[in-house]
Amino acid sequence: SRKFFVGGNWKMNGDKASLGELIKTLNSAKLDPNTVEMTIAPHTCVVKQQQNKEGHVSVIRARINGWLTQLYSEVVCGAPSIYLEFARTKLDPKIGVAAQNCYKVKGGAFTGEISPAMIKDVGVHWVILGHSERRWVFGETDALIGQKCAHALENGLGVIACIGEKLDEREAGITEKVINAQTKHFADNIKDWSKVVLAYEPVWAIGTGKTASPAQAQDVHDKLRQWVKANVSEAVANSVRIIYGGSVTGGTCKELGGMKDVDGFLVGGAALKPEFVDIINAKQ
Ligand code: 13P
Repeated sequence: SRKFFVGGNWKMNGDKASLGELIKTLNSAKLDPNTVEMTIAPHTCVVKQQQNKEGHVSVIRARINGWLTQLYSEVVCGAPSIYLEFARTKLDPKIGVAAQNCYKVKGGAFTGEISPAMIKDVGVHWVILGHSERRWVFGETDALIGQKCAHALENGLGVIACIGEKLDEREAGITEKVINAQTKHFADNIKDWSKVVLAYEPVWAIGTGKTASPAQAQDVHDKLRQWVKANVSEAVANSVRIIYGGSVTGGTCKELGGMKDVDGFLVGGAALKPEFVDIINAKQ
């Protein structure tokens, strides 16, 4: 069975004071062990932890068959880039941190951009790519998003790959076509699917208070899984987490999370509130 994955996307919100408060709430919350527990068998790994001055464990590594491999938590908070290091240092290590974007090369004359190498340098191991706000506010194309995805994966980041149709596209009955085309641009740039989570975020449901119904979400997730089966492999289709995003709240998460092909959430507004804990624990 697929491990439930819950991402919080803080977007361009908060400051050190308010995010610090949120982090305190998350650190002290009782999180569903099925979601946050590491699943590697003890005899295959040696877990190493480093503590910072405040006593927070900041690095967990496991040596598996001689390779030093970073472990990934399955609850991840997407912080603004300027607060990535702050979030990583303050958050309990069982909660992962994600950047909300990155560029497609290691470094150079790209004013305002950050690279996967920089993200990893501050101890962060995930990046959200292709979010609809990147596509529709900042004009990112499928081609650019694909290049970013390839570079992020090659440089050891996990990728939360976002796709989703706009309202006019849904009303025109082309949801499946749009979603498949966006997914193909990601798939063409993915060699190792184990570090990819697909996030279905219908644009009409983002920040609007209009959540897709559980049946609507299940329908698209099912079709996505079928697309992956036909175009990637059956094994990847069975293992890849497909998470839902768009006005998820503590009130809607249980029913959505009960759908067969909904493997978690990507949460915006509600991820800035204590109810994020209820969403993490939706699948108990
Ligand atoms: P809301 O939960 O605020 O609708 O945002 C969803 C989202 O865009 C997560 O990436």
